[in-house]
Formats: sequence, structure tokens, C-alpha cells
Amino acid sequence: MADQIEYKVARILLSSEKIRNRVNELGAEIAREYEGKNPILITLLKGGFIFLADLTRAVEIPHEVDFMLIRSYEGKRSTGSVQIVQDLKLNIEGRHVVIVEDIVDTGLTLSYIREHLELRKPASLIVCTLLDKVETRKIEVKVDKVGFPIEDEFVVGYGLDYRQHYRNLPHIAILDPK
Ligand code: 5GP
Repeated sequence: MADQIEYKVARILLSSEKIRNRVNELGAEIAREYEGKNPILITLLKGGFIFLADLTRAVEIPHEVDFMLIRSYEGKRSTGSVQIVQDLKLNIEGRHVVIVEDIVDTGLTLSYIREHLELRKPASLIVCTLLDKVETRKIEVKVDKVGFPIEDEFVVGYGLDYRQHYRNLPHIAILDPK
């Protein structure tokens, strides 16, 4: 029989409505800035899949999407070593790229991916993250668009997991430490 899993959320940090409004704003901004440029929105799986699904529908200009499956986290903190488990399908040389991230914490994952993708010579490359834990950076990395700056608390929901669960919550929540 499957394990019984019980979700324990201490409080909701960002409601689904708040997220929806901000994602729509970000989408409109990207659509304005990339009109006629056919950008590629790239997300890092698994955490970014829900953000990308909503953002792509809010970017109302022609664009493509692609995915990179990476592994960088063990439990609750970044290990610093990033492994590309599955690479992009599209060639990004000469293309305008928007990296769509769920959250930037230490910055180690993004810094690695950013440098790695720059080597493929895109025409431009920016980062759009839904959440930004500004105070916990271990490495400086350029983040161009931020949905919400947040404090140093472990969050789940809207694609973000704890041990592969909680990704399906429609809001961003703080786990109950108990
Ligand atoms: P960084 O390398 O910047 O420390 O971590 C980036 C990745 O770690 C994110 O893409 C995300 O998958 C994961 N991460 C960082 N902070 C949190 C958090 O508060 N909650 C969850 N669920 N994942 C996080």
C-alpha cells in the first residue's frame, strides 16, 4: 500500500490570487519587451513547471518554451553542485532567452546555469524568478525580474517541493516545522 502522506502547512505566504496577478504583470512586461523577437522561455525542472505554465500564457506574443532538468538540491539546502539530467532540445545560439526560475536562494544553481547557457552564445539572456531570497546569497548572480522578494524561510507550493511533495499547492506556503 502507498505511504500515507499528510501535508502540514504553518501559514500561507502568498495566495494564489496574489501570484496570479504578479505573474500576469511579469508576462505583460516580457511581451512588451520582446515583441518581434520570438524569445525562448526556459525553465529549470522540476520546480519551475507551474510558474512557466502560467507565465507562458501571460506572454501574449509568439515565443517558444524549453526545459532543462537539473539536480541541485538535497533536502532543504543547495549542495552547490549542479547536474544537468536532461538538456534543452532547442539551439539557443543567436536567440533571446528568458530563464524562468522558481526561486533564487544561494544563487549557486542560477550562477552555474547562467554561465553554462552564456557559452551557447544567445543574442540575450535574462533571468525571471518568481521568488528571490536576497539575504541568503552565497554568490553574486544577476536576476533581472523578480516576482516577490521573500525572507529566508523554506517555502513550498506552486511547483516548489519538500521531498517531492507539496508542488500541487496553488499558493506559496511555509511548512509547519513540527
Ligand atoms: P540555490 O542554488 O539558489 O540555493 O537554489 C535554487 C533552487 O533550490 C531552486 O530552484 C529550488 O529548487 C531550490 N530552493 C531554494 N530555496 C527553496 C525553498 O525555500 N523551498 C523549496 N522548496 N526549494 C527551494
